[in-house]
Amino acid sequence: MAAASLFGERELTPVVPEGERASLLSTLAVEVSRCTRCPELAATRTQTVFGEGSPTARLMFVGEAPGADEDQTGRPFVGRAGALLTDMITKGMGLPRADVYIANVLKSRPPENRTPTLEEIGHCLPYLEQQIATIRPAFLCLLGKTAASALLETALPLGRLRGKWHRYRSIPTIVTYHPAALLRNPAWKKEAWEDLQILMQAMGIKPPDRKKPV
Ligand code: URA
Repeated sequence: MAAASLFGERELTPVVPEGERASLLSTLAVEVSRCTRCPELAATRTQTVFGEGSPTARLMFVGEAPGADEDQTGRPFVGRAGALLTDMITKGMGLPRADVYIANVLKSRPPENRTPTLEEIGHCLPYLEQQIATIRPAFLCLLGKTAASALLETALPLGRLRGKWHRYRSIPTIVTYHPAALLRNPAWKKEAWEDLQILMQAMGIKPPDRKKPV
C-alpha cells in the first residue's frame, strides 16, 4: 500500500495518456455546457466557462467562478482580474499563458458575481476534479478562498493557508490571493509574489529579469 493511502489521502485515478487528454476534456466540456445541476445558474448564464490551456500543463491555476467577461466570452480569467493573472503568469513567472491550465471551481457565472453557495460548489466540483485527474498537473495554484476551501476541504482563512505547501490528492499545491482581491488590495501583491516564488523554486523556474514585482 502506498504511504499516502495509509494516512487516508485520496489518490488520483489512473494516468490518462497525454494524447487522449484533449479529447477527454472536450467531451467533458460538452457535458458541462449542458449541465443543469444548478437551475439558477443554468437559467442565467450566457454559456459555461470550462477552462483553457495545455492538457499536459505542469501547472494548473484554479479560480472561483466566471465573471461577466468570462460569461460573455466562454473563457476563464479574461477580465481585469484575468489581465492581472496573465501578468502574474507571463511577466512574473515567465511562462506563456497557453502553457498552463486555468479553470474555476464553478463553470457558470453566479448572478451579480455573488459568492458561490456550498450546494453549487458541491454540484460543480466533480467537473474540476475530472479536469485535474485528466491533466494531472505537477503543481496546483489555488486562487482565493473558494478554490482553497473546495479542494483542500478546509475552513481555515486564506492567511493561514498561503505561503506554504499543501497537497491535493498528492499534487503539491500552493494557495494565494485571488487576483480580484489583489486589485482591491494592491498591498497584498508582495505576499502573492512570495507565493509564486515558492512555486517557481519548486518548479525550477527562474523569474525573468525585471525591475519591480507585477
Ligand atoms: N474570477 C474567477 O475566479 N474566475 C474567472 O474566470 C474570472 C474571475
